[in-house]
Amino acid sequence: GSADAEYDVVVLGGGPGGYSAAFAAADQGLKTAIIERYATLGGVCLNVGCIPSKALLHNAAVIDEVKHLAANGIKFAEPEIDIDMLRGYKEKVIGKLTGGLAGMAKARKVDVIRGNAQFVSANHFEVAETTGTGSEETGNKKTVAFKNAIIAAGSRVTKLPFIPEDPRIVDSTGALELKGVPEKMLIIGGGIIGLEMGTVYSTLGARLDVVEMMDGLMQGADRDLVKVWQKMNEYRFDNIMLNTKTVGVEAKEDGIYVTFEGAKAPTEPQRYDLVLVAAGRQPNGLLIGADKAGVAVTERGFIEVDKQQRTNVPHIYAIGDIVGQPMLAHKAVHEGHVAAENCAGHKAFFDARVIPGVAYTDPEVAWVGVTEEIAKRDGIKITKSVFPWAASGRAIANGRDEGFTKLIFDAETGLIIGGGIVGTHAGDMIGEICLAIEMGCDAEDIGKTIHPHPTLGESIGMAAEVALGVCTDLP
Ligand code: FAD
Repeated sequence: GSADAEYDVVVLGGGPGGYSAAFAAADQGLKTAIIERYATLGGVCLNVGCIPSKALLHNAAVIDEVKHLAANGIKFAEPEIDIDMLRGYKEKVIGKLTGGLAGMAKARKVDVIRGNAQFVSANHFEVAETTGTGSEETGNKKTVAFKNAIIAAGSRVTKLPFIPEDPRIVDSTGALELKGVPEKMLIIGGGIIGLEMGTVYSTLGARLDVVEMMDGLMQGADRDLVKVWQKMNEYRFDNIMLNTKTVGVEAKEDGIYVTFEGAKAPTEPQRYDLVLVAAGRQPNGLLIGADKAGVAVTERGFIEVDKQQRTNVPHIYAIGDIVGQPMLAHKAVHEGHVAAENCAGHKAFFDARVIPGVAYTDPEVAWVGVTEEIAKRDGIKITKSVFPWAASGRAIANGRDEGFTKLIFDAETGLIIGGGIVGTHAGDMIGEICLAIEMGCDAEDIGKTIHPHPTLGESIGMAAEVALGVCTDLP
């Protein structure tokens, strides 16, 4: 049929995967559009994910940090917190970044089409125009034709069926709205998102409980890293419930009553002022009419792709959360670049050896590549070397020497295949280990690279020197 507009590339979704793909396609000279239902670009990450959580976590970390100074003879009064101003700060941060994206789209002549999109064929989207701050439809519809499409429709919070609608029960988006600080808060799901939000609310004054089905918090990270975080953060929690299922949630006038099941679970329902449901996210693959384009979607809503990010329909690509784990912004961005290059006729592949993970808690926990857990599970022979921050001049000077840096080498080749850091700024440092893995470095490459002294980053060089049996003589 006749379309209202026609493009070389149409990207479905304006998150980090989508805008990165669109900008890269435009930079290749392709006529490109992004379809996004919300008023701003940036997707989950900029609007209700990575960025707002870090804006709040930064404030929380400063509050926590000045408390450490009491031991050095510097005492501050209890902070006076104006929650409206803090929320305003977070909004300002989001606004700067989403505004920047709008400018970048304009500069590249990428059309941003506002609306809910559905495939209607293998070459057309139907877009129901949306308006306002949400995604209310105006009733206007148009058809957008494409030569190539890139699906970047992301993921949404997994809803637990037995949880009622109540303003005192929120998901991460609701928690980021920061309507107030509860006295007693339950986090359902002890993963990164739940623990980051818990850190913010706890520093602002809430007491925390956390419930997790697995046998430890922050799954994916090695237990030795998590242990350091947990020891430093136990004071925030009244109860850390592991191997425990949440089986009932009841909204009563005086609070939300939650029932648990597990060997060590409380037998009586527990009362909370706020419940954060952070029990995972699910992909949006089943909500976009993919079948009309012949694109295969799994039962759970994931879209399978090859190394070129192609779906089973060769001119339709998919990237980001919708193609699978790990659901992380930096993975989405790289996949977006690969898809865009292929749209432009280049042969590009997603060929990253490793994708780092970071919990931006206090201290931060960061890991990449082969962990000790993975090595054990897969029977990979490794050697590890650990540099404790108790021997780092900078960490001691900072009064934060609880952390450590760990490098993991392939026992046969001696090449670095993984690493983990727990400590302040761990997330900012893990990138060096990623680079070392991508470049195929061994301990000598890392240990003989001169790192600046005294820095926390130096601990990576020192961990490599430990592996080489060199005395690390810089305190
Ligand atoms: P999304 O960001 O989900 O974007 C998809 C976009 O598509 C959305 O804007 C949506 O409105 C739009 N869309 C979907 N369907 C349609 C349709 N039919 N029509 C029109 N538009 C549509 N990751 C990190 O790497 N670091 C972090 O620190 C981090 N923190 C996080 C904190 C929280 C609280 C949460 C929830 C997530 C966090 N993440 C973090 C994960 C990160 O946000 C996601 O991995 C990332 O946003 C995925 O990008 P994406 O492009 O695949 O999809």
